[in-house]
Amino acid sequence: MREADAYKEKEMPSLGIPGNTIEVLQKHHFNIQKKYGQNFLVDTHVLEKIMEAAEVTGEDCVVEIGPGLGTMTQYLAERAKEVVAVEIDRNLIPILEETLADYHNITILNEDILKVDLNRLVEEKNGGKPVKIVANLPYYITTPIIMALFENRVPLKSITVMVQKEVADRMQVGPGTKDYGALSLAVQYYARPEIVAQVPPNCFIPRPGVGSAVIRLTRYEKPPVETGNEELMFALIRAAFNQRRKTLANAIANAAQLPFSREEVTAALEKMQLSLTVRGEALTLEQFAKLADFLK
Ligand code: SAM
Repeated sequence: MREADAYKEKEMPSLGIPGNTIEVLQKHHFNIQKKYGQNFLVDTHVLEKIMEAAEVTGEDCVVEIGPGLGTMTQYLAERAKEVVAVEIDRNLIPILEETLADYHNITILNEDILKVDLNRLVEEKNGGKPVKIVANLPYYITTPIIMALFENRVPLKSITVMVQKEVADRMQVGPGTKDYGALSLAVQYYARPEIVAQVPPNCFIPRPGVGSAVIRLTRYEKPPVETGNEELMFALIRAAFNQRRKTLANAIANAAQLPFSREEVTAALEKMQLSLTVRGEALTLEQFAKLADFLK
């Protein structure tokens, strides 16, 4: 790799400064696409904070989801060995070619991230070794993106992303809170979550209608709970939170995709010394893992 190139002095002014982003948008007569969740980050402190949290070094291959105008891509390219930026909006590609022209360690792919074979990409770009994911995510598909990364076992060290504040909270909380749900359990099975910054709407152009947060998910080498029935555990979790207001026994017994009767579930709950009227939202990840093992 051309490390010297990656670290050379840039003449390109930072797009983290609002005036520079506005200039690029105007120059290209760019039409901001709400449907793609386009809110461009214009705050150099937040950009620095994301870099700090992601701990990108010259050894890292980074995958950026939705580079937009290339604002964060510039920061990443200056720190990483290699950056692969996946952008769905083809109208952004000529802009990215211009804003990132000084860098030689970036590959831009004009693709929908949900359709990219990320395992293959990591194989091609990093010899299958774990990558870091860093992004200011399009909020309309945050959960499917995160779930696909984990469920498809994409080799990764960490995911450092800007998401809607409520979604960041959901990833981090434990049982007994209103935000606790299937996303909390899935994220916490695969990674250690840590919210590293709160970001107000005025850090973006255009301003989103919601607050944002940066969250870092550090991938566990081994999940924190053991179950021989991972797939069943996630099916139970989905059933429990699909019918959140029902008792766990009813939610599972009612789930068409699960073969268990109400009696079988209550027997398992008894073995676990849980109340028969307990709701899914009261169970820890460990208890869901145990329940899967008992039911199997
Ligand atoms: N990274 C830029 C920044 O921080 O200013 C832009 C962030 S903006 C919140 C989200 C970006 O994701 C947009 O550029 C949008 O076009 C892109 N995007 C939306 N859906 C996508 C998808 N399915 N696959 C890849 N990129 C997508």
